[in-house]
Amino acid sequence: MKRLTLLGATGSIGLRTLELVSSFSEEFQVAGLAARGSNVELIADLCRKYSPRAVALLDTGAVDRLRRVLTAPRPELLAGPDGLVALARDVEADIVVSALVGAAGLLPTMAAILAGRTVALANKETLVMAGSLMTAVARRRGVALLPVDSEHSAIFQCLVGHNRGDVHRILLTGSGGPFRETPKARLATATVEDALRHPTWKMGAKITIDSATLMNKGLEIIEARWLFDLAPDQVSVVIHPQSIVHSMVEYIDGSVIAQLGVADMGVPILYALTYPERRPTPAARLDLRRVGPLTFFEPDTDKFPCLRLARTALERGRAAPVVLNAANEIAVAAFLERRIGFTAIAELIEQALAESGTGEVASVEACVAVDVETRRRVRELVDARAGGRMA
Ligand code: NAD
Ligand code: MG
Repeated sequence: MKRLTLLGATGSIGLRTLELVSSFSEEFQVAGLAARGSNVELIADLCRKYSPRAVALLDTGAVDRLRRVLTAPRPELLAGPDGLVALARDVEADIVVSALVGAAGLLPTMAAILAGRTVALANKETLVMAGSLMTAVARRRGVALLPVDSEHSAIFQCLVGHNRGDVHRILLTGSGGPFRETPKARLATATVEDALRHPTWKMGAKITIDSATLMNKGLEIIEARWLFDLAPDQVSVVIHPQSIVHSMVEYIDGSVIAQLGVADMGVPILYALTYPERRPTPAARLDLRRVGPLTFFEPDTDKFPCLRLARTALERGRAAPVVLNAANEIAVAAFLERRIGFTAIAELIEQALAESGTGEVASVEACVAVDVETRRRVRELVDARAGGRMA
């Protein structure tokens, strides 16, 4: 039995992981669950169904409500950011699935690594913020960081059995998002509904907006740089609207190895949970005869400046990726609240990067400090644009 702790249990990745726990109930059991706490009924249902040893919720009030609705035997209940860290660190688990969204995942994910637990990583923002620190601690503690992100799982699979030194570069594929064919001039008036209409993947709101701006691919460049220890110029991006080729590795002899499959996050999640083994799944099979043509394009960084900004932040290093990520999180939240337009997301990130990001970040605490300061500053910039204070 593998014991799993799920950070972000109520999200798109968390719930998909729990479906796999149900499908492979002789193989996995739930040790801990963590979430924000905005849906106490759902969390109570998950507790009844999966009997975790402990539950951590960011929202303290939600913990009180959960205590009232759950009858004994109740899991141990933890609250607040420290509660999430304690869950990741102290609850015995073989794998911690890191699937919170955004910077909130940094300290709990670091706590899991420091405690020596294998991490199945979906929460790419943590690697963007602290990739150097996280991978160094993981190496020191002998902890495996197993990718859940479909592109990174693909690369991971294409690397198995090869020499790392023989890698020329990797090619991350991306669908191009809902605005791939929208003229640039129309993006300024794109609505939240337009941006949430992702062509191939069904995901949480933040990553869906990131997929529309192509910041998701930008974050994934940085994620890949750290997960696979590559130089920034070894990570390329190819637009592939069908989302069938999940990514590729090009070797020094010109041979390119790709991983293909239907677009179903269950596949990369299960591979991370059973690695190095595979399991048969009832998931839909890839039938290339029905898929039709597979096409590949160069990304348009003029239309999607977030991709360029992410690369700039990676090349600048130091605090720049932390600034990039924090500015993006605040700008995306403001867009989802309809306080700024779609193209303002990239403008705000560019402004934040122009103003800061040159300092060193030698510790996780330093990353958190830059994150907090950037959020404060970008909220100010949003308020100045939109009028009225941002929550
Ligand atoms: P989601 O919004 O569906 O779920 C996020 C989860 O995190 C929820 O359980 C929520 O309660 C929790 N959460 C959010 N903010 C929190 C906070 N401040 N403190 C504590 N908990 C908080 O997100 P998702 O789509 O499941 O994505 C999760 C992560 O996985 C993201 O980093 C995303 O980029 C990555 N990812 C997702 C997919 C996908 O298909 N959804 C694919 C690849 C990578
Ligand atoms: Mg991805």
